[in-house]
Amino acid sequence: MIIDFRSDTVTKPTKGMLDAMMRAKVGDDVFGEDPSINELESLAASMFSMEEAVFCPSGTMTNQIAIKCHTQPGDEVICDETAHVYQYEGGGIAFNSGASVKLIHGDRGRISAAQVALAINNTEDAHKALTSLVCLENTSNRGGGSCYNFEEIKKIKEVCRTNKLAFHLDGARLFNALVAKKETAEQYGQVFDSISICLSKSLGCPVGSLLLGKKDLIKKARRIRKAFGGGMRQGGFLAAAGIYALKNHITRQAEDHAHARLIAEALTKKDFVEAVLPVETNIIIFSIRQPHTAKSIVQKMKENNIIGYAITPVSVRLVTHLDIRPEMVQRTIETIKHL
Ligand SMILES: *Cc1c(COP(=O)(O)O)cnc(C)c1O
Repeated sequence: MIIDFRSDTVTKPTKGMLDAMMRAKVGDDVFGEDPSINELESLAASMFSMEEAVFCPSGTMTNQIAIKCHTQPGDEVICDETAHVYQYEGGGIAFNSGASVKLIHGDRGRISAAQVALAINNTEDAHKALTSLVCLENTSNRGGGSCYNFEEIKKIKEVCRTNKLAFHLDGARLFNALVAKKETAEQYGQVFDSISICLSKSLGCPVGSLLLGKKDLIKKARRIRKAFGGGMRQGGFLAAAGIYALKNHITRQAEDHAHARLIAEALTKKDFVEAVLPVETNIIIFSIRQPHTAKSIVQKMKENNIIGYAITPVSVRLVTHLDIRPEMVQRTIETIKHL
């Protein structure tokens, strides 16, 4: 039994999901004729009370399309220094949008309204790039699955409104935050101009993300998706997995969160662990005490068929997900005890 905690992207479709995929009605989505994609897009839009949604192959693509929609070349984007849009999208902000980035040193990936206000360039100063977009990430991946306080998000929204900035959410793991904080998709739909959600992470789909926003924005997004090469044809087989996940895999994430807390508790007791970031959702990040290294600990775990991910030379990430069953968590805890 291999227990793979590298990411929540490693899940395989469940029987129910595969059945839904096999039954999918499909058509050519570039002609707008795939009934399953159309259904997925309207289901997601209605969950968030947003006007429209567009289905894309990846979360990187939905984020990059959003950034392209909200900026002009030479503009500046504000985000946390650990943000996925900046760190893990292949330099896409510069490559696709020709925009620069103002990085904020946040609290475990979360930035504050006061920090955003300070990071906005003076529009009267011709030396400065025009700030046009603020991107948040909830939950924050590098923050160890940390969740925003929604009150702070509303304050950041106010700063954006006052300064005429667009407001985008990288919600690759937003559903984890909704479950953990007992929040609703609608409240997020009310404050953001665009939201990107991943179906391929905790929701357990093989592929897929959605970008949500107003009608005009999504119309523009569809053109950019085509230019980026993301127009899919009979993608309804994948959309059917997404519909199934939105209907069946959201509330169960509480189980992943409980699993993560149990594993974190076991880690806290170990000498080789310097510190474990507080577990809020399905991500555990812990730092390693010398003479051990992240590599040596990951190797030791691997010898016991437990796969983690050394995210820096001194820290390891474990992510719980749909394919981690309770007996695997027990095995992991036993292994950690003897490590
Ligand atoms: C995984 C992830 C994405 C999107 O990644 P893809 O692999 O392109 O789907 C975006 N943001 C965050 C925070 C992520 O963890």
